[in-house]
Amino acid sequence: MKYNLFCKYERNGKTYDVYLAKSIKNKKIHYRFRNDKFYITAPNWYPKKFLLNDLSSAFAKLLERQEDEEKPFNEKGIYIFGEFKEFDDGFVEIFGKKILFVNLDDFYKKVKKLVLPVFVERTKYYEQMMNVPHYNVNLRKKVSNYGVNSRRTNTITYSYILMHYSIEIIDEVIVHELSHYYEWNHSKKFYAVMDRYLPNHKELDYKLRKRIYK
Ligand SMILES: [Zn+2]
Repeated sequence: MKYNLFCKYERNGKTYDVYLAKSIKNKKIHYRFRNDKFYITAPNWYPKKFLLNDLSSAFAKLLERQEDEEKPFNEKGIYIFGEFKEFDDGFVEIFGKKILFVNLDDFYKKVKKLVLPVFVERTKYYEQMMNVPHYNVNLRKKVSNYGVNSRRTNTITYSYILMHYSIEIIDEVIVHELSHYYEWNHSKKFYAVMDRYLPNHKELDYKLRKRIYK
C-alpha cells in the first residue's frame, strides 16, 4: 500500500506527520500510530473532509493508549529520576524515606514534598544559566503537556510524570519552559534558544515521548 503525506496533526505542542493510503481494497477506515507517525488507510471513495474531521479524536485515543502501555512502574518497582527502585516488602525508598502506596495518584501525593526541591533546584540552575527571571515552581497531576509556563502567575508547573525520568530528561522540559520566556511560540527562534542551552534536547525529547525513563 502506498502512503502519501496527508496532513499534520498537532497535540500538546508536538506536530506529527499523518500519512494516508486510499484504496478500493480498504473497506473501512483504520488508524495506526508507529514511530511517532500516524497512518490512515481509507476506502477510495471516502471524502478528505470527513477524514480530517475524524482523525483528531482517533489520534488522541491512540496516543493515550500508548501512554497507558508504558507505565513507570511494574510489580517489581518504580522509576524515580531515571533509576529503577525495587520494592522492598512493598515499600520503595526515596531520599531515605520509605513509601508505601496503592496507586500512582497516592504515590504522587506522598512523594510530592520529597521531589519538588529537585525541580526547584534544577529550574533555578537553568534560570541563572539562561538569564531568566525567577519562576515559582509547582508539580501537578494534570498538566496538558509535561510542563506549563504561566505568565500570569509567573509559575512553571511540571507534570508529576516527570519524576520518573532521569534528571537530564527533566532538564529538557525545564529548558523548554524557560525558553518560553524568550519566545512564546514554538518558532525557529524558540528552538534556537533551546539549541543554545541544551544542544541534545531533541534526543532527550524523544526519550520523553517514548517513555524511556533513563
Ligand atoms: Zn512549549
